[in-house]
Amino acid sequence: MTDRRAELSAALQQVRGRIARACAAAGRPEDAAHLVAVTKTYPASDVVLLAGLGVTDVGENRDQEAAPKAASAAAAGATPRWHFIGQLQRNKARSVVSYADVVESVDSVRLALALARAASSLRDDPLEALVQVSIDGDPARGGAAGDDIWRVSDSIASSTSLRLGGVMAVAPTDWDPDRAFEQLKSISDRLIASHPDSKMISAGMSGDLEAAIRHGATHVRIGSSLLGMRNPLR
Ligand SMILES: *Cc1c(COP(=O)(O)O)cnc(C)c1O
Repeated sequence: MTDRRAELSAALQQVRGRIARACAAAGRPEDAAHLVAVTKTYPASDVVLLAGLGVTDVGENRDQEAAPKAASAAAAGATPRWHFIGQLQRNKARSVVSYADVVESVDSVRLALALARAASSLRDDPLEALVQVSIDGDPARGGAAGDDIWRVSDSIASSTSLRLGGVMAVAPTDWDPDRAFEQLKSISDRLIASHPDSKMISAGMSGDLEAAIRHGATHVRIGSSLLGMRNPLR
């Protein structure tokens, strides 16, 4: 059996190095971009190992996988901050709110309201919520576009059980990532002008974290570079 802990530790060191170099190249502090380890398709035991290696934040994109994983990790003593990063149906809002600390993929007013309702009944402190932005306006990967971005951000900001953290996006596969993340940065600037505390920019994955960090990403969501290759569809 390979030593999974050693494997994850080596990959983590590489990813942290890439993040630090990208920050330095962008003239930003070395720790300006925070790592969210995307553990989808990988077992709770990996979450436990990563937490033991100092990873504080993990991301998941499917409730039916994340809910039991968060429970097993917690049973094994690992309680990282869970970021929900996938498309979310309103009937899953209660389940997600029961373990997630951050929902990064809020892309409709209806979803914001469902999360607000769930958070007000299940939590004492507000749930952090990001507006997922669709850079190219294609709804296939989720995300709000145009004026919907501001409708969603206003509905989050006006809910007492949610805290508007900022914005999240996935670069469209057929776009130059620099162009995509530059647009996200200008949307973030506009959001911060009216909501000064909403500074999170969750952008950048294994293939494009450098471009995201050049354009102000505060959080990068890294899966395959850290945990290994997955089925390409996920
Ligand atoms: C899977 C996923 C990631 C991580 O992608 P990698 O290319 O494996 O780093 C990041 N963000 C979202 C929304 C994802 O679904």
